[in-house]
Amino acid sequence: MIKEIKMTIFNAPAMRDELHKIPELGFEEVKTSEYVASKLAQLGIETVRGVGGTGVLGIIRGEQPGPVVLLRADMDALPFKNEDGTIERVHACGHDGHTAMLLAAASELVGKVRRGTLKLLFQPAEETLKGALAVIDSGVIDDVDIALGLHVRPIQDIPAGTCCAAIHHVASTFVEAVIQGRSAHASRPHLGVNAAEAAALFTLAVAAIKLNPNYAWSCKVTGIDAMSSAPNIIPDKARILIDVRAATNEIMDEMLAKLDAAVKGAAAAVGGTGSVRTMGAVIPAADYDEDIVEEVRQSIRKVLGPDKLATDCAAGGEDFHFFKRHKPSIKAAYFGVGAACAPGLHSRDMHFDSKWLDNGVKVLVDVALKHVG
Ligand SMILES: [Zn+2]
Ligand SMILES: [Zn+2]
Repeated sequence: MIKEIKMTIFNAPAMRDELHKIPELGFEEVKTSEYVASKLAQLGIETVRGVGGTGVLGIIRGEQPGPVVLLRADMDALPFKNEDGTIERVHACGHDGHTAMLLAAASELVGKVRRGTLKLLFQPAEETLKGALAVIDSGVIDDVDIALGLHVRPIQDIPAGTCCAAIHHVASTFVEAVIQGRSAHASRPHLGVNAAEAAALFTLAVAAIKLNPNYAWSCKVTGIDAMSSAPNIIPDKARILIDVRAATNEIMDEMLAKLDAAVKGAAAAVGGTGSVRTMGAVIPAADYDEDIVEEVRQSIRKVLGPDKLATDCAAGGEDFHFFKRHKPSIKAAYFGVGAACAPGLHSRDMHFDSKWLDNGVKVLVDVALKHVG
């Protein structure tokens, strides 16, 4: 029986293709978690369901004392709006690939964990930036000493077939700006306060924000809703969404202050009032431990070859970094798997060649065994 379990090696590309067909949004990963749990059961791995909502945790315990190592994959897909207003779910960030890589790694690690504990975390709701916090609330992170995450990378970041040892994620958050005006008949606009015009002014003000160019940062309007109920009514309310990113948490604070000033100024220019609020938490910037990152670097050289180590990249945000923020003693690293994702992550038709996932599996296994093998 045990021999049979040890012989099962999962194929990451094949599993990714299966998971790709069942894309689910954050905290709705019912079929995906079912898939994960059934695969872990096939391997005979102790499994906890419902972690942080729809997450799954696999646990492999060694017989000797040692560290608790967490390998983490995210599971959720992204929503895209169809022309008829319906929402289509698409794995446009490659999380199907991450889940597949961690399952394949699990199949190679079964029977090889001698020291400490290996936790395999299949996290829900990364895209909504709420999944890691929900996992933290479940207590799964409290005993973790080392946490390792990974993400497929687009062709813009690193070449296909390579891996980079660190992705330097920036701090990020979503901001909602609300402008309050006053409705009036469109033939008497002087009696109203046009929130749509203030929203336009605010959009220009956001584009004019300037911060220290020595640090990476960006903010951009990603949605404007300033519709009145009829074209001849001056709209009294506007809601504007802004995506905000910064290389440091200090730059993030400065940007949020400037957005607040911008919305107040834009609203005041037409006689209204404005305010901003962050939608959910501000995701912290990456905070890695160089000794673990160096181990990842060595593993990439060893298992893929010296020429397959790519330069570190920096793009996007990740709720993975909440783990170290929750427990600062955690040694964290997060590497990139060059998979030629094109045209880019979060594109509705994002695609990549699943064969590159095998590289991520090899690195995961090698790094994990350094600590629990
Ligand atoms: Zn994403
Ligand atoms: Zn992602």
